[in-house]
Amino acid sequence: MRALVLEEIGGPLVLKDMPIPEPGPGEVLLRVKACAVDQFDLKIRSGKVSHAKAPIILGHEIAGEVAALGPGVSTWSVGQRVTSTLYLTCGRCRKCQTGRETICENFIGYLGIQTPGGYAEYTTIPEVNLVELPESISFSHGSILANAIGTPLHAFTKRMHLQPGERVIITGAGGGVGLHAIQLARMMGALVMAVDIGPAKLLAAQANGADLTVDPTKQNFAQAAREWTHGEGVEGVLELTGAATLSTSLKALGKGGRLVIVGFHTGSEFSVQASEMVANEWEILGSRNVNKRELAEVVALVQAGRVKPVISGVYPLEEAETIHGQLNRQEISGRVVLEP
Ligand SMILES: [Zn+2]
Repeated sequence: MRALVLEEIGGPLVLKDMPIPEPGPGEVLLRVKACAVDQFDLKIRSGKVSHAKAPIILGHEIAGEVAALGPGVSTWSVGQRVTSTLYLTCGRCRKCQTGRETICENFIGYLGIQTPGGYAEYTTIPEVNLVELPESISFSHGSILANAIGTPLHAFTKRMHLQPGERVIITGAGGGVGLHAIQLARMMGALVMAVDIGPAKLLAAQANGADLTVDPTKQNFAQAAREWTHGEGVEGVLELTGAATLSTSLKALGKGGRLVIVGFHTGSEFSVQASEMVANEWEILGSRNVNKRELAEVVALVQAGRVKPVISGVYPLEEAETIHGQLNRQEISGRVVLEP
């Protein structure tokens, strides 16, 4: 099979011929039809993910067709279309047993780090990670469901408990997760202020339903939020950015507000006054990715046309290096997908 291999951390992606992997017990062999490119891939390449060891095949947002079954697999058959969650979990601990497997007590790791990922024609995936993908959803759309749509669905429904009529800020709103977060918040009846840098990302945010867009390099978005909410402050902030925006996000939060942190690529340290938390009954919550049951909900939402997957391009494996460069320079709105 053809596979893009990162032979050393910090090095180039090298297209190679490799043997097709054998699925182990409880795993399926997947013919990869689409694999989305994510900022996390760049972090791995640059050595910022300490547990990622080269050589490695990147790619953790995968959709494809079941090509063979490993020993003991009985829930899938060859030829089925599937998408996948991205975390490798134990399946046995209290968290896994109660549907909170993204905080598994015995967390094993990620597709595309602890196992060879989807920048290849074939990969192996544990059967428990898979969710059926109906014919009406393309593989390229299927590849972005878990991370780009499932992540904000989990954050809004299970963590923020976003309610109709509430006002929510999304930082990093023009990225792959952000654009779908806007759609989901609107679907849930909330009003959205999208925060991101540059006209291209803000236009994309508008196109996906943002009521208001703010470029934080031109305008203080906490101030903009106070004006937008007649001085009250917002009910929710979905943080997809991190240290660069966290303290402003807190200033934008109204009484009873919930700050849900999902992404922190600009750094993770910030400070908060306990007195302000108490005075305003703020909630500061973390939200980690998506569980399998929620991924099935995402599939249903997309199938019903209630959320529209946003992809800015589909490319062959050979283009991955170019795509990584563009992603690194923040030139891409939404998700880009590779078709091995
Ligand atoms: Zn577990």
